Amino acid sequence: MLNRSEVARLRRKETSAQTDRTWNYLCTAGGETQATDDFTCKDRVTCQALLGQGICESDITFDGLAGLHQSIVFCTKNTNHAKFIPVNKFTPEHLPKEYRDKDVYDCVERLITLGVILKVGYTSENRPPGYPFSDVAGSDIMKHHRMGSGSVFIPKHRPKGSCCPCQRCRDSPQPSQTWHFIWVSTALHVVFDDLEASQTEVGWQFNDITCRESITWMQGIRLVNFDLKSDRCILECVTHDTDIQDSIHRARSFLRKKERELNEKYLQGTSNGQPGLAVIISHPHGYPKQVSLGTDIRRNHIKDKCPGVEWTEYVYDAPTCRGSSGALVWLLGQMRVGYRDGEITTHTHRGSCGDTTNMSGFGLDWVTQHTSSDGSESTCNLASLHVS
Ligand SMILES: [Zn+2]
Ligand SMILES: [Zn+2]
Repeated sequence: MLNRSEVARLRRKETSAQTDRTWNYLCTAGGETQATDDFTCKDRVTCQALLGQGICESDITFDGLAGLHQSIVFCTKNTNHAKFIPVNKFTPEHLPKEYRDKDVYDCVERLITLGVILKVGYTSENRPPGYPFSDVAGSDIMKHHRMGSGSVFIPKHRPKGSCCPCQRCRDSPQPSQTWHFIWVSTALHVVFDDLEASQTEVGWQFNDITCRESITWMQGIRLVNFDLKSDRCILECVTHDTDIQDSIHRARSFLRKKERELNEKYLQGTSNGQPGLAVIISHPHGYPKQVSLGTDIRRNHIKDKCPGVEWTEYVYDAPTCRGSSGALVWLLGQMRVGYRDGEITTHTHRGSCGDTTNMSGFGLDWVTQHTSSDGSESTCNLASLHVS
């Protein structure tokens, strides 16, 4: 770890250098942990791939989770990460006054439980030309991992099959008799297809740097659903740990009961032009889970889905960094369709707008007030949810 004066010296050097500061940042984040006089890029191809992802905010680790803390020191988007709240330190006082409500706090606590980190060990050749990381598709980016964030839920209708599909069980003469499917909503640019899904690990409760070595990783199996335009996918993974499944069940049940009530409570304010609360739980730079709070600055109508339901995207000022891609964007005071088993409905974090604001992928909102939380009032066929 660099000491304070070394960091200050490197920052001065970055400021005075006539070279690309982002490039320096990447090289530094990429493992240049020695305070040397010149920045030497250790992996130009990977750095270029990271820069080439455009607005998207996935990250790459060169050194497992251990190497990533350096990137916060050099983060130029959110200096010192001062606006991120470590999940262990989150209190009701962090909420803006108008949303300082026990129910809101309790919902954010459940969202924290459901937030996960994704470590992707392969980049598929199926990524179309020009798509993020397509330049390194099929190459041995395996020595590094792409990092993103996501949010978990339990599938309602998933036949279990006769044995656990994880690699360990498939290779074992005594496969585990207990296993559970967990589904993860994330961004498509984080996990693009089944090839990438099978090389993805999903980390549960990485809440503190000290628990880095003891995180439970769940193995990715396949993509259940995806949509290119909305930049969303649902990744299926598997765990042997019944406690994880129970925790997810409890958190989702709580949100199901409270979310609608809270959205209706705050809907009037947002209908009158008051900005809604935006909450994002993510792993910036693969760092332990952080809470980001802000407001939804703009809601863009993309297109009507069907009577009563529309595709939208949101712009918000809740802070995000590389590594936040795929995190659930929770918006209070908006009538979102919410989770629908295997369907693409929720808004997940997509990337940076290039200023101080950030944007989601597409998700579904109710256009009008609905009376049923399961959408039965709408005539929309929610079984077919691709944007195009
Ligand atoms: Zn950062
Ligand atoms: Zn297994």
